[in-house]
Formats: sequence, C-alpha cells, structure tokens
Amino acid sequence: MVNQAQILEWLQAFATEIEQNKEYLTELDAAIGDADHGINMDRGFKKVSSQLPSLADQDISSILKTVSMTLISSIGGASGPLYGTWFLRASTAVAGKQELTEQDVLELLQAGLDGVLGRGKAQLGDKTMVDVLSPAVEAFEQAIREGKKTQEALNTAVVAAEQGLHNTIPMLAKKGRASYLGERSIGHQDPGGTSAYLMLKSFLEVLEG
Ligand code: ADP
Ligand code: MG
Ligand code: MG
Repeated sequence: MVNQAQILEWLQAFATEIEQNKEYLTELDAAIGDADHGINMDRGFKKVSSQLPSLADQDISSILKTVSMTLISSIGGASGPLYGTWFLRASTAVAGKQELTEQDVLELLQAGLDGVLGRGKAQLGDKTMVDVLSPAVEAFEQAIREGKKTQEALNTAVVAAEQGLHNTIPMLAKKGRASYLGERSIGHQDPGGTSAYLMLKSFLEVLEG
C-alpha cells in the first residue's frame, strides 16, 4: 500500500532529483532542443516543493491535482502541459483513495501515460518521454499480474524505464523541438525521457525507504 505521506515524500524527492539534475537535463536539451528542460522542470518543481507543506492534510488525488495545476502554470514549453496532464490524469485515477493498492498504482501510471499520449500524440519510438513511461507501465502491469507487490513491481518498472531511456539514444525524433533536427537528433538521449525516468526512480526510492 502507498499512503498519502509517501506521495508527499515522492514529490519532494522528485523535486530534489530535478534540482540535482537541472544542468544535466539542460545539457541534454542543448544537444537536441533549446537548452531549457532542466530550467523548466526545476522552476515547476521548486514551486511544487514550496507548496507541499500546505498540502499535508489533503488526500492523494487533491495533492496530485494541485501539482498538475502548478506545473501547467509554471513550466511552459512542451513539458509543462505534458507533465501537467500526467499529474491531472493520475489525480483522477486515484480519486477518493486514502491508500493505493498495486492495482491503484497501475491505474495511476496508466492514466498518466494515456494523458501524455492524448495530449502530445507521440507514438512509441518517436524519442519522447513516452519511450520511458510506456515500457514502465507495461513492466509494472506484468509484475503485478505475476503477484508482485508495489515496490517490487515498481522496481521492475524502473529497470524498464531505464532501458527505454537508453533506447531513445539511437532514435530519430518525430515530436517536439528535437524533430526539427531530423537525422541530427540521432545519438542523443531524450531530455524529457530522462526526467520521466527520474520521476519513477524517485517514487521507487521513497517506497524502499
Ligand atoms: P520545449 O521543447 O518546449 O523546450 P522541454 O525542453 O521542457 O520543452 O521538454 C522537451 C521534452 O518534452 C522532450 O525531450 C520530450 O521528451 C518531450 N516532448 C516533446 N514533445 C512531446 C510530445 N508530443 N509527446 C510527448 N513528449 C514530448
Ligand atoms: Mg526545451
Ligand atoms: Mg523551450
């Protein structure tokens, strides 16, 4: 079971992870975009981090919804609406839940991915965060089908996410700014996929305690 306190811890852990990787994310975006992904994400998650104390009494769904609104209003670029949508759909998926079972976590992850797919229209292989989020959801689903609990299933998902992230390197970008580069986008790791991997990894680390 994942409780409300762990969700708050995860958001703080992700904000810290973004802060620590701000320059790395921006360098990745400098290679195939406009060198702002770390700056964008850090701006949004600093704001989230500052709001977390005031969310201490809220339920999981309300917390995720507030995060969504904050990201949409503060990040901008492509990643603002995409992460905003991920958190909004995640929020809706767990409406009314005080604790999350492994099935609830699957629904959260699936809803977030579906939101990104609906909003950004990227397909698998287009060299975006979808190439990280999608294999992660698939691995999580398979793990719980095999009877694994949330932490173990998320561990499998993070391994799949890392592989998915690595797989973005040889891809030719078909969505977002990187797609303007055509063939020159080949050979670089996707910045948004990298932040998505950090999001899942920080969730796992909170569950590991
Ligand atoms: P911008 O490109 O507007 O400067 P960011 O640099 O913050 O925004 O984010 C870029 C990341 O957004 C990319 O690395 C990619 O993972 C993700 N992205 C861009 N377009 C899409 C899309 N249509 N669907 C999914 N993800 C996308
Ligand atoms: Mg950018
Ligand atoms: Mg930009």
